[in-house]
Amino acid sequence: MSTGFTIPNRLLLGPGPSNTPASVLAAMSQPTIGHLDPVFINMMDQIKQMLQVTFKTHNRLTMPVSAPGSAGMETCLVNLLEPGDQAIVAVNGVFGKRMVENVVRAGGVPIVVEFEWGRPVDPQRIKEVLNEHPQARLLAFVHAETSTGARSDAETLCCLAHERGVLSVVDMVTSWCGIEVDVDGWKADAVYSGAQKCLSAVPGIAPVTFSEKAADRIRTRTKPVQSWFLDMSLVMAYWAEGGQRAYHHTAPVNTLYAIHEALRLVLDEGLENRWARHKAAHEALVKGMESLGLSFLVEEPYRLPMLNAIKVPEGVNEAVVRNKLLTDYNMEIGAGLGPLQGKIWRIGLMGNNATVECANRAVSALDECLQ
Ligand code: PLP
Repeated sequence: MSTGFTIPNRLLLGPGPSNTPASVLAAMSQPTIGHLDPVFINMMDQIKQMLQVTFKTHNRLTMPVSAPGSAGMETCLVNLLEPGDQAIVAVNGVFGKRMVENVVRAGGVPIVVEFEWGRPVDPQRIKEVLNEHPQARLLAFVHAETSTGARSDAETLCCLAHERGVLSVVDMVTSWCGIEVDVDGWKADAVYSGAQKCLSAVPGIAPVTFSEKAADRIRTRTKPVQSWFLDMSLVMAYWAEGGQRAYHHTAPVNTLYAIHEALRLVLDEGLENRWARHKAAHEALVKGMESLGLSFLVEEPYRLPMLNAIKVPEGVNEAVVRNKLLTDYNMEIGAGLGPLQGKIWRIGLMGNNATVECANRAVSALDECLQ
């Protein structure tokens, strides 16, 4: 029996992962060394510093969780919530809903604030809810809702939470490294992301960062975090900079080589340049889609450059088009989720793929498939 498999060379223009640069894959294929080897530990310090720069933070509690973006979400919520704590959660898509589930499983009491899918979270409504629930311990929301392509005003939302002494938990899985994020400037308290979107590293790593205020909340918990693996107070013994590294779990050594290289590429390019590249690619896509007579789900001011939700024209079976793109063009795009299933395509221009060339390829392939 053959156990081999062949991987096609796809162009990944969906909601993530994005294509991984060759140097990131090459970094990953270096020899595995021990996770407590001094050479590896030195590399971990560099990863931490590069995470701080890309998140624009000086937070000491900054590290990559050895698991995908969802584990970053869970890490933030299980560490900051104790049973019975109220958490205001803004929901304008799939990932806000996932936050609600995490709050419930952490024993918290969610105060769900719903918004139309495709619209941003409304700060005015959040302000009212914060006033109605003075006992709430945190406000959680998604900066870049990948299920719809809508961008919320993270700065204003974090500021509202900060003014009321409520911790903010922000999902930056899709925004980080593609549009501006400013953890310290916005006073965000707990932030998580993922490696597979605008960083263009391999999937399976969730960078997280906690403000001093959030770290204090973790230190002063009355009950231990119910998840042993995600308990920041334990895992930090391994990631604490400069101190004695203690074994917590066996880090995904080669995956972290890839993260290191991908972060190095981001800093080499410069954050502002990278954001500008995402914007230029998005603008090319808008122009192309409009020339095909296609329109966007999200209103212009709230559109994410890296995740473009395009309305499926009347009478078109969106799955047939997506399958044709995959089989005939080796191009992956995403489908709509939940109430948007069958109604939109999601075209990602993330990280390495945020180029005018990728945007134009998506437009011309879609044009041909719609003939
Ligand atoms: N949050 C957002 C906004 C996402 O887009 C995703 C993944 O698409 C996640 C969380 C979960 O990340 P992962 O699939 O890596 O667990």
